[in-house]
Amino acid sequence: MAARSPKPARIDRDAFVAQARALVGEFSLTKASLTAGAVGAAIETDAGRIYTGINLDLACGIGFCAEHSAVAEMLKFRETVVRRMVAVNAERIVAPCGRCREMLVQVDPRNLDCEVLMPDGDSATIRELLPKAWLEQLLVQKRA
Ligand SMILES: [Zn+2]
Repeated sequence: MAARSPKPARIDRDAFVAQARALVGEFSLTKASLTAGAVGAAIETDAGRIYTGINLDLACGIGFCAEHSAVAEMLKFRETVVRRMVAVNAERIVAPCGRCREMLVQVDPRNLDCEVLMPDGDSATIRELLPKAWLEQLLVQKRA
């Protein structure tokens, strides 16, 4: 495992978005339709660290969203709580897909309170974007 970086000061929204935007630059792999880097993501943890990722889009449904690789990077450092996240393509901020929303809840239910930067310049929590998350419902059923 790589060494843990020191806790940085919280950066503003534009600087945070820039962390994801710096990763965007779609490139082809084996052939033109097999690509990576069309989307970049940045996540900030409750410890104040920022992790980033890019998407991978291959044939036969192989691949993952940029948020997935950012979360994998975070997990390498044994962190699970995300307090802010953003994904961008070449033109704008993009909202996380339903699978990514569910992934964050399954990684840690506290991520229901994660702030997600939205395309309209606003933000929303995962709880607002994913009411009645699948895992949350399972946990409620177990407690009942
Ligand atoms: Zn996704």
